[in-house]
Amino acid sequence: ATTALADYYQQQATAKPASMDAFWMPFTANKQFKAAPRLLASASGMHYRDVDGREILDACAGLWCVNAGHARPRIVEAVKRQIETLDFAPNFSMSSPLPFVLAQRLAELSPGDLNHVFFTNSGSESVDSALKIALAYHRARGDGQRTRLIGREKAYHGVGFGGISVGGLPNNRKWFGPLLPGTDHLRHTLDIQRNAFSQGLPAHGLELAEDLERLVALHDASTIAAVIIEPISGSAGVILPPDGYLQRIRQICDKHGILLIFDEVITGFGRVGKAFAAQRVGVTPDIITAAKGLSNGCVPMGAVLVSERIHQAFAQGADNAIDLFHGYTYSGHPLACAAALATLDTYAEENLFEKAIELGDYWQQAIHSLKGLPNVIDIRNYGLIGAIEFAPRDGAPGTRGFDVFNDAFHKGGMLTRVTGDVIALSPPLIIEKTHIDQIFERLADIIRGVA
Ligand code: PLP
Repeated sequence: ATTALADYYQQQATAKPASMDAFWMPFTANKQFKAAPRLLASASGMHYRDVDGREILDACAGLWCVNAGHARPRIVEAVKRQIETLDFAPNFSMSSPLPFVLAQRLAELSPGDLNHVFFTNSGSESVDSALKIALAYHRARGDGQRTRLIGREKAYHGVGFGGISVGGLPNNRKWFGPLLPGTDHLRHTLDIQRNAFSQGLPAHGLELAEDLERLVALHDASTIAAVIIEPISGSAGVILPPDGYLQRIRQICDKHGILLIFDEVITGFGRVGKAFAAQRVGVTPDIITAAKGLSNGCVPMGAVLVSERIHQAFAQGADNAIDLFHGYTYSGHPLACAAALATLDTYAEENLFEKAIELGDYWQQAIHSLKGLPNVIDIRNYGLIGAIEFAPRDGAPGTRGFDVFNDAFHKGGMLTRVTGDVIALSPPLIIEKTHIDQIFERLADIIRGVA
């Protein structure tokens, strides 16, 4: 293995692997991929280079995570220094300074009084941690019959058993048995009939929030612990909340003592112009889950932010009582903390969150310029996120979306994200107008070509 790594660097990281058999790739058609791979070799700023040396414009911030752009010197330096200084420190009844510094920074960035931070290593872990915290919160208050968890159709909350149970993507659920008992789902808010080509938040669909009242009527509020919602569903193809929807969900939760969790794994850290989407839409949840942009994707890290009220419920015990029987070996890993702190410094110094608002109109106009191209049936946008939806091919749904994605990479030199017949875009926030022009000019050509 040592020799393989030495060889790899010797060839300046562009070596193609001798065999592709052993790596079982996640969420990938392995046979299709390995027959015609898309292999990235290096990255800097807005661009990747693939193993053939071609420049690839990153229109998706890697996988919705590299919000400050690639290989930013401040972040690289912080991670290098940290690994030389303190490579690992346990956080069970022991710690090191950086997780405290980072948690304080996050508390300052968070909306409302979400001032307490639990660290994880991924979005999936953040979601499962948040669901467990919600259940344990009610129990700590003597309200332990509140055990039901409510998600939404088409939601993506990662791949833990909790996350797929409240999630609403059939393919992610159907293979894995009965899942968590006691979950239920609100309808999704995608309504192409009424909202096609809306710019920003769609006008129709606010009434869908009343689904929560229906579930309260069905199950009784006294059995419901929490509702979890992505302010914008990313993985299902950028589904936006109808105007006023999140406000209404907040009201219903308050009325019935139900906790509201925003899963901000994608929408956090500037994607829609603020640290969290909660702040952009003006709705404060009780818990936020985060990951991805927290550490700019370069070291895995996630976080769960909880309100004072929730934290207080765990702080009632004796001084020597453990607050929460939950945690990961790598919770608050020093390398991840260093990466995250340097990332937050970069966001602040370069005003990157504000850029998603400043460039929002330009982005909106550019993405909607694709309206009228063959098979384009919807375009959605908010902040610096967007999606283009195609009419599925007869008898072969998903293939048109895949062809656009694949051609965008091989012919257009561009990284996008495909889910079914939707192409999703979420560029690094360092993007310039010229990159936006390139993205949509190239996509227009590709879409015409695929047609
Ligand atoms: N929650 C949301 C909203 C996500 O978009 C994702 C990943 O895309 C996750 C959770 C899972 O994150 P991870 O892949 O880091 O486990």
